[in-house]
Amino acid sequence: MLTVLFSAQAELWDSYRPALTAAFAEAGLEAELVQAAAPELVDYIVFAPNGPVSDFGPYTRAKAALGLWAGVEQIVDNPTLRMPLCRMVDQGLRDGMREWVAGQVLRHHLGLDGIIAPPKPGLWVPEFPPLARDRHVGILGLGELGAACAETLLGLGFPLSGWSRRPKALPGVDCLHGEDGLRRLLARSDILVLLLPLTTETENLLNADTLARLPKGAVILNPGRGALIDDAALLEALDSGHIAHATLDVFRIEPLPAEHPFWAHPRVTVSPHIASSTRPETAARVIAENIRRGEVGAPFLHLVDKTQGY
Ligand code: NDP
Repeated sequence: MLTVLFSAQAELWDSYRPALTAAFAEAGLEAELVQAAAPELVDYIVFAPNGPVSDFGPYTRAKAALGLWAGVEQIVDNPTLRMPLCRMVDQGLRDGMREWVAGQVLRHHLGLDGIIAPPKPGLWVPEFPPLARDRHVGILGLGELGAACAETLLGLGFPLSGWSRRPKALPGVDCLHGEDGLRRLLARSDILVLLLPLTTETENLLNADTLARLPKGAVILNPGRGALIDDAALLEALDSGHIAHATLDVFRIEPLPAEHPFWAHPRVTVSPHIASSTRPETAARVIAENIRRGEVGAPFLHLVDKTQGY
């Protein structure tokens, strides 16, 4: 019997316990899911930030830490984590992000705010938005989520550029990499979507210099991580009108402190880190599959490259 320790926020236990138990049975695993155990008896750790485990040292038998989150910046540098770390790649996460990004892109593309704002009787100013094919979207990060969003936006007709660390080829997407690729993408992005992980290389990637490279009136959507953006530089670009709007789902400090200028800024939409979330039923199958692999000596899925930080 395997011992699987659930180390995540206590409030997730009620939804994950049945989902994981069912997924273990479906995968033919004899495994007991527990919220506490003697560390030396634990075989796998299901992990999310803010759970009880932060020192992995005593878990000498554990074969892997299996993350419930796609982003791993809060754990990847933990010096006690010597076992393999897998992150979450889940259909529910992908679908949620596609929907959030498509919704936010269409909001700005169609100028929905102007229609939803309280109507002024008699004011009748027909202004047609351009077609999607005339609005360029750039996506920073062409991984699991960025590529899924690219596919959805392409289906709506938006011309797309994407940027990744390594060269990439995705049908219909102008795939760019490197500093020159970033500059080219920024120069043409009417709407910019940030779906990069937070690493030492990506922190403050959107700063005064890179913001200035966007076309005047560009819109920024950040469902990636707050620290990808230099907050002060963004506020300056919004105040000057160079950036028309920023819809931010993630922040350096979460919840976003009440006194942060983003809350009151007329050109900022604050979204409380809800762009997408791991869905227990689908995520539990990913965890179970990785435990099955661990038990038969097969390579783990979605292994984090600790040297790259994602
Ligand atoms: P992936 O690891 O699959 O993709 C990351 C992408 O970023 C890859 O294309 C990678 O390039 C690229 N990248 C990484 N570092 C660099 C760099 N230095 N320069 C250029 N490109 C880089 O991650 P996911 O798509 O699964 O998730 C992306 C992020 O979304 C997560 O890390 C998390 O922060 C965030 N997220 C937010 C959620 C929310 O609700 N707001 C929910 C889930 C995730 P390459 O392809 O070459 O490796």
